[in-house]
Amino acid sequence: MTIDQDTSLYGVIGKPIGHSLSPAMHSAAFSEAGLNAVYLAFETQDIEGCLRGIRALGIKGVSVTIPFKSMVVPYLDEVNLLAKRIGAVNTIINDDGRLVGYNTDTLGAYKALNEKVVLPGKSCLLLGAGGAARSIGFILKEKGVDISLVNRSDERGNELARVLECPYIPIDRIGTHRADLLIQTTPVGMSPNIDECLVPENVLKAGMVVMDIIYNPIETRLLKMAKAHGCVTINGLNMLVYQGCEQFRLWTGINPPVGTMRHAAETALRKQNESN
Ligand code: NAP
Repeated sequence: MTIDQDTSLYGVIGKPIGHSLSPAMHSAAFSEAGLNAVYLAFETQDIEGCLRGIRALGIKGVSVTIPFKSMVVPYLDEVNLLAKRIGAVNTIINDDGRLVGYNTDTLGAYKALNEKVVLPGKSCLLLGAGGAARSIGFILKEKGVDISLVNRSDERGNELARVLECPYIPIDRIGTHRADLLIQTTPVGMSPNIDECLVPENVLKAGMVVMDIIYNPIETRLLKMAKAHGCVTINGLNMLVYQGCEQFRLWTGINPPVGTMRHAAETALRKQNESN
């Protein structure tokens, strides 16, 4: 593409940002859709200044990642209802200087799950009580899933369990519970610590659906164990790609090129791992 005075600018803000797959994914989508737009990674510590810059420079839209998803909320002109309930924004649209926040992690997780499991009426062990668990917990609750929340720290675990109106199980008691679905939302097992796993083998049963939202590695130790036990597995790349697709749809109003975005994310991840 040729960059000119009409080129629209999008990006991702966070810290650290070096391993984000979003620039590869969205650049490929803009190119496939024939849009005169570029997407860059902005590492920042100054969220307030960053948002002033987005308004001042007319940056059309940004993805928001760690550690700003909750911090960004008070600086926005409007936050959509779902993002407000979750308390986290991962997508901003700049509508002529008016910054509007959304949360596409929720829909991304739902789409990844919905490909493999009919959610209403299922029971689920939701492992973790951070931002991702919160986003996923909201959609599970909305879809009529019977959640049990499992976490390391009782304080955070109890707090999210209260919000989701579900039981809390301390992590050392996870082995005593059975569920149709297990969703792992902690960073345990993420590269380079790929041999780590919080879930004991006796939790995994044939036919169970196991999702790990970690996407590096694509197949975590948990997912390998789950496969060996005859579980249906869902990796974190699916959620990442689908949340990115919803961002693209919000910014452009165009149906996202899912295959292109998945291929770009996989290729960028492979390149990152080869260069490490
Ligand atoms: P977060 O808000 O920092 O929450 C982390 C959670 O993991 C907390 O519940 C924490 O427990 C738990 N945890 C951390 N280290 C642990 C350990 N050693 N043992 C047991 N529990 C531990 O993080 P987040 O934003 O939810 O993100 C979590 C992970 O999801 C990251 O790996 C991130 O890359 C991934 N993610 C993926 C996608 C995707 O699209 N695939 C989207 C969002 C996030 P405590 O409460 O005890 O501290």
